[in-house]
Amino acid sequence: MSKKDHAEVVIIGGGIVGCAIAYYVAKSGIDCVLIEKDDIASGTSSRCDGNVTIVDKDPGFDSLMSLRSQELTVALADELDLDFEYRALGSLLVCENDTEMQAAKEWVDIQNAAGLDFKLLDRADLKAESPYFADDIPGGLECATDSLINPYMFCYSLIHKAKQYGLRVYTKAEVTNITKKEEFTVETTNGTFTGKKVVNAAGVWAPFIGKMLDIDIPIIPRKGHIVVGARQKPVMMRNVMEFGYLMNKFGRDRITDPMTEKHGVALVLEPTESQNFLLGSSRQFVGYDGRIDINVVQTMAKRALRFYPDMIDFTMIRAYTGFRPWTADHLPIVSEVNEIPGFFIAAGHEGDGISLATVTGKLIEELISGKTDTIIPTEPLRFDRFAKATV
Ligand SMILES: Cc1cc2nc3c(=O)[nH]c(=O)nc-3n(C[C@H](O)[C@H](O)[C@H](O)COP(=O)(O)OP(=O)(O)OC[C@H]3O[C@@H](n4cnc5c(N)ncnc54)[C@H](O)[C@@H]3O)c2cc1C
Repeated sequence: MSKKDHAEVVIIGGGIVGCAIAYYVAKSGIDCVLIEKDDIASGTSSRCDGNVTIVDKDPGFDSLMSLRSQELTVALADELDLDFEYRALGSLLVCENDTEMQAAKEWVDIQNAAGLDFKLLDRADLKAESPYFADDIPGGLECATDSLINPYMFCYSLIHKAKQYGLRVYTKAEVTNITKKEEFTVETTNGTFTGKKVVNAAGVWAPFIGKMLDIDIPIIPRKGHIVVGARQKPVMMRNVMEFGYLMNKFGRDRITDPMTEKHGVALVLEPTESQNFLLGSSRQFVGYDGRIDINVVQTMAKRALRFYPDMIDFTMIRAYTGFRPWTADHLPIVSEVNEIPGFFIAAGHEGDGISLATVTGKLIEELISGKTDTIIPTEPLRFDRFAKATV
């Protein structure tokens, strides 16, 4: 197939991670192209929520990474020309019982000790937030710096600006093979590209790109359902999650009913700017089967009623699913691959890719440029940590 383009850096994948990389790399003056098999934001980044959060991050490196990403996202709300519905509203984590309340108190203490803006809320605080909360909800916590974006619009906004810095974008171009001699040759269904460096930002499909160069990338799809509803009453004005979400995400023990447990369901309610809301979510390992399971949807709806009984007559518009790119230690891979110099991986963000896209983009730009003073430490994100783990 004919040669389509050559660039210093070839980015594979037009999800939020690939778009953020394209933005920072192009902005730094490096010649780059982005290749996407379908359209921009056609993968997980348009099948998710839009929470840019610290509230659900483990204290330490996890929350530091999110904090840096939040700072970059705030700056982009000014820098980018196209609006992406950035709303700095803070977020809430609510508890179902006194045991969770005790855990929430510990969570707040740890996060405060790490210098983060967390506050414990009691029942009266929650009722002041929304009179629609069930009467027996004991309280929760607030993280003041959390925000919401529209991930789909954010991808297009990043690309729009990156093009002004020289980025070239090729959609409907599925990468089918990669070889490396002096430089990389990337074959696609829409022409062949060459580049000195390649970034694999293909989300849950990153392992298939890895296979083309004989490397195993341990990322597994973790499916999630979302229901879109119409907000008839002002039940929630900002992002609300239940404390059990943390338990599900980190695979910790949680006392709940069998269906909630089976489908990994925990309440996440996101009010969109258009006055709809997104009701989530579930966590399942079922391969790449994206079909909607009505049992999961029903379990999610029941979960919402546990916290907001008045939602019983709310109109639901549609449901969709997406695949979180899961790794065993819950951290993404943002790293060059030792065995293949010039080949980088930026994938495996599980349920945090919206929160962590900007810090990932910035870090990849720094790694590609050979900078050693990076925005966050690189060690925890290295690809070779998995090889070490199996030794
Ligand atoms: C239900 C749900 C709710 C979520 N909520 C949140 C949230 O509130 N906050 C948060 O931070 N995160 C959230 N996430 C996680 C977040 O959506 C993901 O981590 C993020 O979207 C991953 O982005 P990505 O760019 O790595 O992958 P993707 O968006 O999947 O992008 C990868 C791209 O690579 C392309 N591609 C694949 N193979 C090829 C190929 N061979 N050639 C060319 N292109 C290829 C795909 O078409 C795709 O566009 C949620 C996820 C789900 C499922």
